[in-house]
Amino acid sequence: MALVVQKFGGTSVGSIEKIRNVARRVIDTFKEGNRMVVVLSAMAGQTDGLIKLAKEMTPDPDPRELDVLMATGEQVSVALFSMAVKDMGYDACSLLGFQVAIHTSDLYGKARIHEIDHERITHELSANRIVTVAGFQGLDEAGNITTLGRGGSDTTAVALAAALNADVCEIFTDVEGVYTTDPHVCPQARKMDSISYEEMLEMASLGAKVLEIRSVEFAKKFNVPIHVRSTFSNERGTMVIGETKDMEKVAVSSIAYNKNEARVTIRRVPDHPGIASQIFDSVFKAGIVVDMIVQNTSEDGYTDLTFTVPKPDFMKTMKLVSQVAEKIGAEKVLGDENIAKVSIIGVGMRSHAGVAKKMFETLAAENINIIMISTSEIKVSCVIEEKYTELAVRVLHEAFGLENP
Ligand code: ADP
Ligand code: ASP
Ligand code: MG
Repeated sequence: MALVVQKFGGTSVGSIEKIRNVARRVIDTFKEGNRMVVVLSAMAGQTDGLIKLAKEMTPDPDPRELDVLMATGEQVSVALFSMAVKDMGYDACSLLGFQVAIHTSDLYGKARIHEIDHERITHELSANRIVTVAGFQGLDEAGNITTLGRGGSDTTAVALAAALNADVCEIFTDVEGVYTTDPHVCPQARKMDSISYEEMLEMASLGAKVLEIRSVEFAKKFNVPIHVRSTFSNERGTMVIGETKDMEKVAVSSIAYNKNEARVTIRRVPDHPGIASQIFDSVFKAGIVVDMIVQNTSEDGYTDLTFTVPKPDFMKTMKLVSQVAEKIGAEKVLGDENIAKVSIIGVGMRSHAGVAKKMFETLAAENINIIMISTSEIKVSCVIEEKYTELAVRVLHEAFGLENP
């Protein structure tokens, strides 16, 4: 008897009829003799709606209370799903994060899973129930409700699969698997049969939201194979696993984009030791993750410093940085939310020269200006104007021949 963890995303449970459809699917797998743990997201649009409500109440909602509010989205879907299963003649039991219990750190909105108790789930499974767990939520040491960050239900599912030593973790979503790029942006995108943890990690960290990055970190650490597949078909999807054949053969294997970052520039920063540390100290202390950082060469003792942060942290960053800028005598702070980061990714890039050059040429041919560049062994990222994102993704996909295996 296998233990299967299945996770269904927001669009998969977006209506009463869709929840019934998911219940039927889960029951089919259950009837094959499997023990089932089902992780659900909030119904499509619910989490955004809850955040909007909070922002109507106050522009800067208290993080603890915001987590209490956001966690209600998943409570609704697990309850409705369990009702549907029971209606179809099978037994089910919904569990919230604190009931499981999923223990996390206390960083509201971005909590990390520390440990998962499995007695309760194991008990319900042995009573022949389909167990449904609310994704995206946990509790901290002091007993407060926490959430794991947007897209966090993926992480709940993979962490549960690791803790329960499940045979497989299936992530059901609204596309057929992991593609060479977002199939909703580029119709030529090609579904991959398998992808390595390493490449999936890179794709997730660069914006491919098909899997949340922490879920891939968990999968890699505990060697959990993930099967990403569609809720709306029975097709085999994409396996995310340790190593795949032919990885090194192609230089570029996927394209990702991220519209969720904003750019901050501090003009004419006095150029002497300790300044960068002073600027970033307050940002890091606020738990804000800085992505790209570019510092210009010094001119008459002054330099410009530019970096990117997640859009939800933009206003806060501008406030913090403006205070430091004044203190250190910098000229001014500029911000831009209308940017996007487009990245080419490939493990094989290590052994292929000229990849970055081809990316720059391809963007130039479309008259797309590159604002910032960063590179690593297995990716090149360019920040561009947000309005060119889709065009950039499509031309790069074509330039690197990704539509053909
Ligand atoms: P869910 O609600 O099921 O968690 P998400 O919206 O979080 O679904 O993730 C699925 C979406 O990820 C797809 O609809 C697709 O637009 C997007 N996506 C971005 N990059 C990729 C990619 N490389 N392969 C597949 N989907 C991708
Ligand atoms: N409902 C949460 C979100 O929208 C978590 C998830 O869907 O994975 O981010
Ligand atoms: Mg998701």
